Amino acid sequence: MVPSQSYEVTVVGGGLGGMTAALALRHQGLRVTVLEQAPQLGEVGAGIQTAPNASRILLGLGLRRQLEAIHTEPLDQVRRRWQDGSVIGLTSLGQHCKDRYNAPYWHYHRADLHRVLMEACLDPAGPGPAVEVHTSSRVAELDRSDPARPVAVTDDGRRYAGDVLIGADGIRSRVRDLMGAADTLEFSGEMAFRALIPGDLIAADPATRWLVDRYQSTIWYGPDRHLVHYMIRRGEFLNIVACVPCTDEVAEKWTVAATTQDLVDAFPGWDDRVPAMLSKAKEDVSCFALYHRRRDPVWMDGRVALLGDACHAMLPYQAQGASQAMEDAAVLAEELGGVNTGDIEAALRRYVGRRAKHAGMVQDASLQNKTFYHFPDGPEQRARDEKLRRFEGESDL
Ligand code: FAD
Repeated sequence: MVPSQSYEVTVVGGGLGGMTAALALRHQGLRVTVLEQAPQLGEVGAGIQTAPNASRILLGLGLRRQLEAIHTEPLDQVRRRWQDGSVIGLTSLGQHCKDRYNAPYWHYHRADLHRVLMEACLDPAGPGPAVEVHTSSRVAELDRSDPARPVAVTDDGRRYAGDVLIGADGIRSRVRDLMGAADTLEFSGEMAFRALIPGDLIAADPATRWLVDRYQSTIWYGPDRHLVHYMIRRGEFLNIVACVPCTDEVAEKWTVAATTQDLVDAFPGWDDRVPAMLSKAKEDVSCFALYHRRRDPVWMDGRVALLGDACHAMLPYQAQGASQAMEDAAVLAEELGGVNTGDIEAALRRYVGRRAKHAGMVQDASLQNKTFYHFPDGPEQRARDEKLRRFEGESDL
């Protein structure tokens, strides 16, 4: 429903959450300005998964043709034991998700997914007014002297007024600080390596060829660490996420460059196929400390509200952080669409009411997976593996 007044929304942050929100709000006929601190819009060189909950939202925004051009579809998700790669669980994805959830489970290169969202936001032929995007625009302050027109002020003094302001500025959200919300960030004690391995290197080696025979999302479970990998761009790259205890250096700096050898060395004694695979990583391996937020009910103040990692940063142990941000975006747009400016605060309250509890449950479940994935070998690990075997074929996405 198009509101009787098409009012202005300022979105701070042009990541996957901010751009999905901008597009969803555009679809409601609202005039959206995105302020992004980076000189160019884009995403890191890594993979991302969208389970049916997020794929459904993206498809609902009219992106089917564009997503079909960039996605890779895993048939299933296989869980393997660290020492010998034996299968401890298999969850059907592929056709199963489409049949059961009426939406697919897809993998992408993050930059591709972000580009699709950006192009849809800017497309002059799209529904509603095209989104206005300002890069090199780091929001440093909010001027809320008129509570009905919050103003985002950039660090070089530019001012952007709107009828509502959304902080989609990520885990270290400045908007959140300026709202006076409590600091709910916690260090997990773990860090993640990210790497891309060229698919042709994987295919050329008999030790890793099996990875391209059948597109699967794979999780290896081991004592105090786990490893995730899946293909993106239909086999152009194998995406690697390796979560291990954090070193002091990474904890202090948040993020450091790492080498392929660092990545291989993080899995001593694992099944030979693991080092055979990891040793093929390109040299631009990155490594960063994993932080998450405690469950957090403070998502809004007046006409300023938060979305995505700014309010519910979670461990990536369910691959749901961006997907939850997309759910925020869809609900926010549903609530803001169709209301007049006088009803914006009530619409934001409904948004928070519909989203905070659910996102909190996903935050908690992601944190619980830190223990569940990392049991040392012993009774708890055996009970977990037994549970995963029974779970085979089912998923609840
Ligand atoms: P961000 O992506 O952090 O975007 C915030 C944006 O705001 C950035 O562009 C930043 O430059 C900008 N910004 C920050 N401050 C300012 C400012 N003051 N002014 C202007 N702009 C500003 N999620 C999934 O759903 N599926 C997955 O498979 C998945 N895999 C993951 C794997 C790993 C290893 C990790 C760490 C996370 C993973 N996630 C996944 C989680 C996901 O990456 C995040 O939850 C998601 O990117 C958050 O999106 P966002 O838009 O809220 O924040």
